[in-house]
Amino acid sequence: IAKRQGRNTWQWFRQQRKQTTSEHILLRHDLYTALHENQLELYYQPIVDAVTGRIRSLEALVRWHHPEHGMISPGIFIPIAEQTGQIIPLGRWVLRQACEHLADMRAKGERVFPVAINISALQFHRDGFLSEVQAILEETGLPPELLELEMTESILMDDAERAVERINALRGMSIAIAIDDFGTGFSSLGYLRDLPIHKIKLDRSFIRDILTSANSAALVQGIITMAHHMGLLVVAEGVEEREQQETLIGWKSDMLQGYLFARPMPWSELRSLPGLLPAP
Ligand code: C2E
Ligand code: MG
Ligand code: MG
Ligand code: MG
Repeated sequence: IAKRQGRNTWQWFRQQRKQTTSEHILLRHDLYTALHENQLELYYQPIVDAVTGRIRSLEALVRWHHPEHGMISPGIFIPIAEQTGQIIPLGRWVLRQACEHLADMRAKGERVFPVAINISALQFHRDGFLSEVQAILEETGLPPELLELEMTESILMDDAERAVERINALRGMSIAIAIDDFGTGFSSLGYLRDLPIHKIKLDRSFIRDILTSANSAALVQGIITMAHHMGLLVVAEGVEEREQQETLIGWKSDMLQGYLFARPMPWSELRSLPGLLPAP
C-alpha cells in the first residue's frame, strides 16, 4: 500500500510540474501550510562503522506528511522549497528540531550520537546563517561537537570566497563539515586542499555499481585513498548489500550508510533500535 501511495504521490507531482503557475502557487501554499501546521517530521538514518556496524552518527532527513497526498519525498519538495525561498524557514525548522531532539536526549541522560543536517546553498549563503546556527546551539544548549553539516559541492561554486570564510567559521565553532554526494558536482577538487572539511560522503550512484563496474570500483577506491591521505573520513552512501559492505571494508571506507543497516526512521523508533539507546 505504501508503495502504491508513493507512486501516486509522485505522479501527482509529475503532473503538477507540467501544470500552470496557479498550481505552482497552490503547492507553494501547501508547503507554507506544512511548515505552520506540523506536517513536517524529521527522520533519522544511522551511519555505522564499516567494520563493526556500530552506530557512529545519524543523518536527519525531513519528511512531509501531506494531508491529501500522503508522504512526499524531500527529493521532490526540497527543490521546490529552494526555488520559492521556503527552504529558509524549512531549513531553520530542521536545524532547530534536530538540536532540540538531541538536547532533550542528553538531558535525559541517554546516549546520543552526532547528528548531520543537510544545508542548502541558499540557506548557507544567506546573511545571518552563522548567527542562526549559533543562536540555536545556545538556546538548546547542545554542544557544537554533536552537530555536523552536510553540504554539496554546489555551495562552493555559488560564491567560493564566502563559502571558505563560512566553513572556516563553522570549524572554529567546532562544527564538523561533510561534503555530500561527493563526486556528482562540477566543482574542482582544489577546494579540498583549502578547506577544513572533516569527511566526504560518496554518492549512492557510485556505490550502486561497485560490484559490476570496474570504473566505479576504481573511482571509489581512488577517492577513498585520496581522502585518507588528506586526513578525511569517508562515508559510503546507499549500501544495500552485504557484498558491497565487504568490498567497501576491503577498500577501507570508514563508515557506511544504507538500507542494509537501517532505513531513515522517526526519532521514537530510533530509540528502540537494539543496542542503540539508552547508554550501555
Ligand atoms: P542525501 O542528503 O544524499 O540523503 C541520502 C538519501 O539517500 C536519503 O533520501 C536516504 O533515505 C537515501 N538512502 C539512504 N540509504 C539508502 C539505500 O540504501 N538505498 C536507497 N535507495 N536510498 C538510500 P531522502 O531522505 O529521500 O532525501 C533525499 C535528499 O533530499 C537528500 O539526499 C537531501 O539532499 C535532501 N534532503 C533531505 N532532508 C533535507 C533537509 O532537511 N534539508 C535539505 N536542504 N535537504 C534535505
Ligand atoms: Mg545528506
Ligand atoms: Mg548524500
Ligand atoms: Mg546522495
